[in-house]
Amino acid sequence: MTAEPVIDAQGDQTAARVPVTVRASLSPSRAADFKTCPLLYRFRSIDRLPERPTVEQARGTLVHAVLERLFDLPAPARTPESAGDLVAPQWDRLVTEEPELATLFAEGDAAAAQEFLRSAAALLEGYFAVEDPQRLEPAEREALISAVVDDELLIRGYLDRLDVAPDGALRVVDYKTGGAPREAFEARALFQLKFYALVLWRTRGVVPRVLRLLYLKDAEVCDYAPDAEELVRFERTVVALWRAIEQATARQDFRPRPSRLCDWCSHQALCPSFGGTPPPFPMATAAPDPLVDARSRPASPGADE
Ligand code: SF4
Repeated sequence: MTAEPVIDAQGDQTAARVPVTVRASLSPSRAADFKTCPLLYRFRSIDRLPERPTVEQARGTLVHAVLERLFDLPAPARTPESAGDLVAPQWDRLVTEEPELATLFAEGDAAAAQEFLRSAAALLEGYFAVEDPQRLEPAEREALISAVVDDELLIRGYLDRLDVAPDGALRVVDYKTGGAPREAFEARALFQLKFYALVLWRTRGVVPRVLRLLYLKDAEVCDYAPDAEELVRFERTVVALWRAIEQATARQDFRPRPSRLCDWCSHQALCPSFGGTPPPFPMATAAPDPLVDARSRPASPGADE
């Protein structure tokens, strides 16, 4: 199994350097969708059914945006107060970029909107309970990273934060803001972090020393230390997953796999496990662009990614 480094960069510069052999791309979110429930993958990635943003997802997006901007400030200014001051302006920016977010609250329901902003600020307090951003200088934030594995599969995604120690050790940090039961989502979160670890290892030749989940609601830290052997196995898993997706697509056969995560699925009405009928399988169109933004679809049901 081979891997070819592509790029660590923001924006679309990746396109210029993707090898011509690449014929598909996979993000951790979409891979995790298929692992969780093949039909969910189909609804999101093939039917591309719209999903209304939920309040929980919007809160997660807002908190991620604030934490990203917080590190724009000089270290001494990264205080809980300045993080709180970023909440409303960042929400305004997100709503401007995605006006549908404004529909989360009934028109004129200022109290609900205020409560939403307060709940985001409370999550930021959880952040300050587990980290001191004045002592950190992240190497990357919201960085798009990608690598080619198995010669033809581009794996890519956005990591929340990458810290690099003076000795070159890497720490991948992922903020979790969801209120969903942790046990239902932890395997998925770890899958996502291993995905990033694999990309970093393949592009930089360094296995990240720590994969860190920061649970802001509970103010808890969960650290995981991967090793190279594990990442080799994980790479095989990702490639096998992609082959399974290709097979399912060729057969137009994506089965539901009910689980606790169904409670967060937007598509129950179309799911046979809930008495629904999926729409006809879409006619084959042009091959999907392998460089479609890995974050162009909503996060997992109920999760913040
Ligand atoms: S409701 Fe559950 S089984 Fe059905 S598509 Fe959604 S996640 Fe899959």
